[in-house]
Amino acid sequence: MSRIVGIDLGTTNSLVAIVDSGIPYVIADPEGQRLTPSVVHVPGPGAATIVGHPANRVRILKPAETVYSVKRFMGRRGSDIAREEMLVTYPVAGSGSGPVTLQLHGRAWTPEEISAEILRKLKADAEASLGEPVTRAVITVPAYFNDAQRNATIRAGELAGLTVERIVNEPTAAALAYGLDKLKDKARIAVYDLGGGTFDLSVLELNQGVFQVLSTHGDTRLGGDDLDKRVVAHLCQEIRSAGGPDLSPATNTPDLLPLLSRVREAAERAKIRLSSETETEVSLPFLTPDFNFTCRLSRARLEELTRDIVERTRAHCLRSLSDAKLEASALDQVILVGGQTRMPLVRKLVSEWFGCVEFGEVRGDLRLGDEYHKAKGPELNTGVNPDEAVALGAAIQGEILAGGFRNLLLLDVTPLSLGIETFGGLMNVIIPRNTTIPVKAGELFTTAVDNQRSMLIHVLQGERERAMDNWSLGRFELEFEAAPKGVPRVGVQFEIDANGVLHVLARDVKTGHQKVVQMKSAVDVDDADVQKMVEESVANAFDDLRARQWIEAKIRAGETLIATRKTMAEYDAELDPDYRTQLHQALDEVESVLSLENPKTKTGDPARLKAATAALDEVTKPLAEYAMDKVMEAMLRKKGVL
Ligand code: AMP
Repeated sequence: MSRIVGIDLGTTNSLVAIVDSGIPYVIADPEGQRLTPSVVHVPGPGAATIVGHPANRVRILKPAETVYSVKRFMGRRGSDIAREEMLVTYPVAGSGSGPVTLQLHGRAWTPEEISAEILRKLKADAEASLGEPVTRAVITVPAYFNDAQRNATIRAGELAGLTVERIVNEPTAAALAYGLDKLKDKARIAVYDLGGGTFDLSVLELNQGVFQVLSTHGDTRLGGDDLDKRVVAHLCQEIRSAGGPDLSPATNTPDLLPLLSRVREAAERAKIRLSSETETEVSLPFLTPDFNFTCRLSRARLEELTRDIVERTRAHCLRSLSDAKLEASALDQVILVGGQTRMPLVRKLVSEWFGCVEFGEVRGDLRLGDEYHKAKGPELNTGVNPDEAVALGAAIQGEILAGGFRNLLLLDVTPLSLGIETFGGLMNVIIPRNTTIPVKAGELFTTAVDNQRSMLIHVLQGERERAMDNWSLGRFELEFEAAPKGVPRVGVQFEIDANGVLHVLARDVKTGHQKVVQMKSAVDVDDADVQKMVEESVANAFDDLRARQWIEAKIRAGETLIATRKTMAEYDAELDPDYRTQLHQALDEVESVLSLENPKTKTGDPARLKAATAALDEVTKPLAEYAMDKVMEAMLRKKGVL
């Protein structure tokens, strides 16, 4: 069996790692560098690409032909991309449900193709270092990547000639790198991962060698890049006040882009330096032929400029803890992952929020888990290089899959609920959010209308009550024999495999006829912000509940109206006129409540509708009894009893 490398395919940097004789390490490229900038330069039509450090250097001179942060575009549709995200220095195209493409020298590149270039380089570096072919890999993704984004990552691996043995969530991989043999048997840890482009806070439990993700929360559009943008804006202002060119976005013209790229690079360098220095100099000689720029930037000023961005991560931390039903004090450790967590402000705030004690702080003889420790809060552990933890963890997972580290198993969770649309447009959850994967779950469904010949399986992802408020992952039809409503039985089963990919099976119970659909292509799958979805579900919880109650009441009212009208028509001639009027009044009341449905929100007053339907039920009781008697009479007559 060939070895399996671990790859951290990052927004800013990518790394490849391997386990050698039980020890994980990051593989360096021939120049001895372990971090490969996730940057790809396309020099000309049909020319070979340049990847990593050399591409990063060219980025300044050729901003329009050099792709960075491509991870932000992986598996996403044109309509998912916000305008400001399009403001990278290379042309991004994509609209509506079409895929996103990057236009380089007249060729439309997909984000997967660009990522594949990075993966090819890592594969080649690993092969050169190990002296053997590398064909199998574990690749990590942010915990909030949806199916489309995970599948795009798998495709990128395949394009690069790699079999992707497993997709692993970044925090889970990091926990592996940190937790392998350091933690006690039962420990709970929070993984705070702030990288270049994404943020996650995951709560994990290590229980006798088995990792389980209790919850995960984050934002796929929050990271060090956002801090850089603030510093860039600050420097642009300073440049302008010093009499330099106006580099503000409003005046951005293509000839200013190279300057802006230089400012961006200087901003990031200054930000990084300010993690170890309290003040630094930003120097941009010959920004224009007749303008040299220098200024001083202090750590305090950097913190002022970016503090609110770091603080935005706090809500995700709280939410993740609450999803895991844990207080911060119940955690044993908080581990920091991602280059941006080197920033002292990040460490300080995280430490404050979680009530942490410094890792290794002298506490006499007391050990993790002691009462004293619990009272003092979790330890802040920065023991593993935050840039490398994810890749090391991926390599460990690769080793587990290749047969090493046998007693360690990884369990992940679904970031959002998965289900199907049912009658009336409601979401029926089959796998709730934060369920441990791999998982298989199913339910039986039936028809709502007589003689239905097929059922539409509309697969949804999200936390909202109504189908239309959730994301549509895809739809397909299962055909069956026509039968009265409620008779056909269709079993729908969802299976999420270890890579987080969803397989949906629908089976007609009577004939065994079935279809299995993999929710695969990026184009078939909607992408949006998981965080936004969860926030919206909380913000709209009351309205959503009312909408569900309204739809359910409406379905019940509709059934009662049809049944009443049918019976009334049948026995109209025999009805007492007063009773007929009473029936009509009750029918009118139900219809009038239904007509009050707000066309915009598609909801009405569920309590009033339920009351009107109950009143109609009550009024129709004598009619129902009369109809039943008539049916019995007819039956007995037919049998010759009467
Ligand atoms: P990652 O995605 O983990 O490679 O993290 C990359 C992000 O970390 C980028 O935004 C970097 O600017 C940032 N970063 C790397 N090193 C440092 C540092 N020493 N201080 C602050 N930020 C850093």
